[in-house]
Amino acid sequence: MDWLQTSARLMIVSDLDHTMVDHHDSENLSLLRFNALWESNYRHDSLLVFSTGRSPTLYKELRKEKPMLTPDITIMSVGTEITYGNSMVPDEGWVEVLNQKWDAKIVKEESSKFHELELQPDTEQRPHKVSFKVDKDKAHVVTKSLLERFEKHGLDVKIIYSGGMDLDILPQGAGKGQALAYLLKKFKTEGKLPNNTLVCGDSGNDAELFSIPDVYGVMVSNAQEELLQWHAENAKNNPKIIHATERCAAGIIQAIGHFSLGPNTSPRDVMDFLHFKLENVNPGHEVVKFYLFYERWRRAEVENSEPYLASLKAACDPSGVFVHPSGIELSLFEIIDSLRSYYGDERGKRFRVWVDQVLPVQISPDTWLVKFKKWESSGGELKCCTSTAILSSKDATTVSDGLTWVHLHQTWFKELASKDHSTWPV
Ligand SMILES: [Mg+2]
Repeated sequence: MDWLQTSARLMIVSDLDHTMVDHHDSENLSLLRFNALWESNYRHDSLLVFSTGRSPTLYKELRKEKPMLTPDITIMSVGTEITYGNSMVPDEGWVEVLNQKWDAKIVKEESSKFHELELQPDTEQRPHKVSFKVDKDKAHVVTKSLLERFEKHGLDVKIIYSGGMDLDILPQGAGKGQALAYLLKKFKTEGKLPNNTLVCGDSGNDAELFSIPDVYGVMVSNAQEELLQWHAENAKNNPKIIHATERCAAGIIQAIGHFSLGPNTSPRDVMDFLHFKLENVNPGHEVVKFYLFYERWRRAEVENSEPYLASLKAACDPSGVFVHPSGIELSLFEIIDSLRSYYGDERGKRFRVWVDQVLPVQISPDTWLVKFKKWESSGGELKCCTSTAILSSKDATTVSDGLTWVHLHQTWFKELASKDHSTWPV
């Protein structure tokens, strides 16, 4: 997030399971709708923060299972770990805050005396989080007596019960809400407090997020009783918090619209790109739109018609070049012509294409260098290319929001290098 020199226009802080990610949506449509909205309208000047109870191990597993974007900041293990960027660099200042009046060894020793508590797997035990499973009817009594024991040791801890089964013991200063408060304070000190912050959640450990002053909040339609009850008791009259009528990521999109935080029409909800216009020239939108068309073309969800291909050509520089990951160079026109033979080849299949981290840099008054990752999922197989495109507004046409593709260069993403070069990988 070093690229963001000023205040974020919007910071979204979202829980993952059953909030950003809908485990009942096997097609991941609401997540893909959010992704397209974020990359086309927000990525370049806003911040995406994932705040999850998952440990780094389980978080990485989820990222392999679902078409999730890369967040700018990741808050994991119920607010006990804050990391930045792709390489997930930990926030050392946050570690120091959490070390106060905390001793994981004593916490483990004392809690091992309660047979009602079932220790969660090793990957879920973190430096500032000790986690168990416990039956709903026993959680309250166990929590009370654990707190008494820890107090005798001079520890200051908090216990969060979530999802009707997970019991997490954390330092008093930890939790999703405290981690967000810490981040906001840090941004304020740097003079980069986001213009608007929207928190999104569905369960008990998200309640803290909604307690942070001045943030907007959305409880997704499928929010659990424990969160709704917390809201009824603590924040019923706060007009900045809504209970969405839409599930998961669709509820987040709904909240963006409800609070007028910015554009809220996902490009995935627009079928007729030929007549869809934006108010401003936007390289991010151009990239999202192109790959959405590519997906629909191969799924045969758009008409197999020459005007579509002609409009694509009109949005390309006649001397534009595409460099395939194998190193082969083709003209952009040749690539568009080759699309004809791919029409409908993924019809009826689970074929999806999405782009992540679309970051445009303006390199001259009319030219943008746009870097992004292009993901393609087909029949359970994932492919990813890191891509660099040059887009120019020199040959403005009515079909491309005024932008022309001049150059596109792709390389296989290192973690998913593939020998299969037979697929047309634009
Ligand atoms: Mg959740």
